[in-house]
Amino acid sequence: PRPSPFLEPGDKTSAGTLAIISLSRDNFLPLTLEKSTGAVDGYLEGATLNTRFGSYPHSTLLDVPWGSQVRASNVDTGSRGKKRRRDATDEDTPIPSQDDDEDSTAANAPVKKAVTAPSGFIYVLRPTPELWTTSLPHRTQVVYTPDYSYILHRIRARPGTRIIEAGAGSGSFTHASVRAVYNGYPRDADDTRGKVFSFEFNESRYQKMQVEIGHHGLDDLVTLTHRNVYNDGFNVNGETLNATAVFLDLPAPWEALHHLSRRKIQKGGKASDDDDGSWVSPLDPKQSVYICTFSPCIEQVMRTVTELRTLGWVDVDMVEIANQKINISRERVGVNYPTEKGYNSSPADVAEAVTKLRSLAERNKETQRVQALQAGADGVDSEMDVDSTPSRENPAKANGAAEDMEKPWMQGRLVHRPESELKTHTSYLVFAILPCEWDEEAEAAAMAKWPCGN
Ligand code: SAM
Repeated sequence: PRPSPFLEPGDKTSAGTLAIISLSRDNFLPLTLEKSTGAVDGYLEGATLNTRFGSYPHSTLLDVPWGSQVRASNVDTGSRGKKRRRDATDEDTPIPSQDDDEDSTAANAPVKKAVTAPSGFIYVLRPTPELWTTSLPHRTQVVYTPDYSYILHRIRARPGTRIIEAGAGSGSFTHASVRAVYNGYPRDADDTRGKVFSFEFNESRYQKMQVEIGHHGLDDLVTLTHRNVYNDGFNVNGETLNATAVFLDLPAPWEALHHLSRRKIQKGGKASDDDDGSWVSPLDPKQSVYICTFSPCIEQVMRTVTELRTLGWVDVDMVEIANQKINISRERVGVNYPTEKGYNSSPADVAEAVTKLRSLAERNKETQRVQALQAGADGVDSEMDVDSTPSRENPAKANGAAEDMEKPWMQGRLVHRPESELKTHTSYLVFAILPCEWDEEAEAAAMAKWPCGN
């Protein structure tokens, strides 16, 4: 298998792989980098990312360390083809703006105006599940990072775990879970490695996701199956998946739960009439299995919980993640000026702050003069009137504080503000455990390992 940009990104960007472009703090764009020729005759040729922050030929984004800041090109970004077209038709026809290029860029970038902004810049970031979640093409509602990080923790997803997931939807959870279970490169063909078994019954979503998984170099770690799991369960090729973790993001999870049992049963836990002994459980027979179902309504939760209990799942509980972002910043309304007692961050007004800063600067000057004299020692009255200056006790601190004032990131009052409201409700998370079956053989094996029980 070829390296995945999500799992084995290397140090630098390369042609044919995915990068996430950061246009601004909350604006990310997935972009597959292409070989491009750069500027020819003053025009950009080949793949170019056009954004309202300027134009970026892919050649400037290739072979740079992940995380690089790239400045906008200052070469004319009108295409030569368009220029010729204009020459050939009507001189008065305006040159097509970059809006027209929107769909011709690899990333279909949002271009608002025909501007070349040489001062603009972007960052080229290595793909992570978190960045993919914020920038992926939405085909459905998706599971977001605050939910999936908690879910993966609760269902014990770790390197080597084999996870069942349905439905795949837009693949947000899939990308997060494959990273959680990934256990190293080169990936061996051994079937004990971590894997995600993902199911989707919508044909077009299934097709798109299959392409995406291949493009992201994840196809040997994610097995995607086009299936209605309510009817047909989770087995793939009649072999056990040996799964120990399950995540169901389906409208009716209770319709699928009976397929996640240790032996063939019907919905509601009734024995199956057509059990000829050929049925294989998708679950690991030797380990407990952890499940999470994800449902927006409490009625769905209640039906799921009933079915879970009926089918022998234990430790059933429900959680709602109420994620709140806390923004921390410096506020420059007042000036954060140093005083004898440290920083005073709340001057009455700017004028007061400026006055105090001036007086402090004067004092520092005086302190330095005194220190210089003291260094020269002779004839200097050590009781000079410097007691009230901050430098008397700790001159270094005072000078340091003054220096700090020049650092832009030290200016202003440090404030933290939670988002005014909690993010709207996403879903209820129901968790449960299906214990592994315990028989005489298992008991004997356990006792052999732990003989003090005998
Ligand atoms: N968890 C996904 C993500 O993070 O991108 C989003 C899942 S989306 C909300 C639910 C998906 O389940 C839809 O794509 C839908 O087609 C699929 N689905 C619904 N019923 C299904 C079934 N019976 N079998 C398989 N997939 C199903």
